[in-house]
Amino acid sequence: MFARLQKADEFGIVLGSAPRLDYARIAGRRDEIVRRMWSGLEGLVSRNKVEFIEGRGRLDGPRAVRVDLNGEDGTRGTGRERLLTADHLVLATGSRVRSLPGLVPDGRRIVTSDDVTTKAELPRSIVVVGAGAVGCEFASMYHDLGVAVTLLEYLSAVVPLEDRDVSRELERSFTRRGIRVMTSARFDPAAVRLTDEGVSFEVGPAGGAREVIRADQLLVATGRAANVEGIGLETTRVEVEGGVVKVDRRMGTAEPGVYAISDLVGGLQLAHVAAHEGFVAVGNLAGQMAEEIDYDSQPRATFTRPQVASIGLTEQQCEERGITFRKGRFPFAANGKAVIVGEAEGFAKVIADASTDAILGVHLIGPAVTELIAEAAVSMSLEATTHEIGESTHPHPTLSEALGEAALAVHARQING
Ligand SMILES: Cc1cc2nc3c(=O)[nH]c(=O)nc-3n(C[C@H](O)[C@H](O)[C@H](O)COP(=O)(O)OP(=O)(O)OC[C@H]3O[C@@H](n4cnc5c(N)ncnc54)[C@H](O)[C@@H]3O)c2cc1C
Repeated sequence: MFARLQKADEFGIVLGSAPRLDYARIAGRRDEIVRRMWSGLEGLVSRNKVEFIEGRGRLDGPRAVRVDLNGEDGTRGTGRERLLTADHLVLATGSRVRSLPGLVPDGRRIVTSDDVTTKAELPRSIVVVGAGAVGCEFASMYHDLGVAVTLLEYLSAVVPLEDRDVSRELERSFTRRGIRVMTSARFDPAAVRLTDEGVSFEVGPAGGAREVIRADQLLVATGRAANVEGIGLETTRVEVEGGVVKVDRRMGTAEPGVYAISDLVGGLQLAHVAAHEGFVAVGNLAGQMAEEIDYDSQPRATFTRPQVASIGLTEQQCEERGITFRKGRFPFAANGKAVIVGEAEGFAKVIADASTDAILGVHLIGPAVTELIAEAAVSMSLEATTHEIGESTHPHPTLSEALGEAALAVHARQING
């Protein structure tokens, strides 16, 4: 910790009797890392002899793409065009922020994740609308940076797609830290007033008392809409269903030879899942493998404090699917390493099939769990049982012991805790 503190200024932390943040420095470091990662990818593309064309593409039938080329300086829509033809196409136009009806982001008072990930200054107060992964990540980060945060969620839980125990633990942790969390929140997005100071509107829990909230900014984090428009899908047999491109488990669309992946097809809308969908699509179109995507074995990571990570089925999904299961839980408070690093909140939870002991889901909340989930991903792809995880030796003292213990706890065999 001391060694890291000596480099604090690199991370935008100005030490002194009352440490403070240099957010412009933090933003500068963020931009520099993005730039480095971007140029690494550009290098990867050119090393692999992939031609990178800057411009806006539009399908012209199932075997051709018409590209409206960018200018040398990056200006769009130069009117210069290039026609590309291919035996196979992979569509990956991604997604954009989906706001609420009547709530129009202006980049100043009503902002989106696109705005806040490029800004170099912090608001004093913010209302985050939507407590999915993105909303919770920003609520957590802003609170840690000293911003007054109110987090509103329409559903009855934060991170509502996660296991319900994890949702409860994250809400408790946020509330303990001083983030104002309102679940089952109801407000009229069209009635949000823009003022010189920011935004103000009336909100309350469903059926409960209403109050006026004021903040410098309102961050819309209510989900993503797939970019299906304006890309010429109508010139093919590709089908759109529920706002996303419809694909089979090999990422094939209704148009033979045309594949679609990533945020465009809905699914989990995560970067590593997008990459995996890419492998599946390319493997199939190149005829190298007949692989199918399995969303139940894709890990999910949420970079809140405490972190959340999961894979497979939640307890509520097991109930919905009528699966008989057993579960084991182990608290980080009983894990030596978590206590050493001073981050002992949260737990590891393992859900297993009651008859086969196969692992159905792993749910983690606590320190560095976005790293720990990789063990669960490998275990699930190897079709491991809880005995196999629990009886594998986990080094001491490490956070990974919590997962081993949770696996043993499925049969009440945990050693500590
Ligand atoms: C705030 C935020 C935080 C996130 N954090 C995480 C995280 O921690 N971990 C994680 O795994 N995922 C995270 N995600 C999700 C992740 O960013 C997406 O799942 C991933 O980027 C999807 O990849 P994609 O290729 O579908 O879309 P994108 O990355 O959006 O790429 C699509 C590209 O296609 C281009 N394009 C669109 N239309 C055309 C066209 N007609 N012609 C040419 N080009 C076009 C776009 O300009 C864009 O560059 C986060 C998302 C958000 C918004």
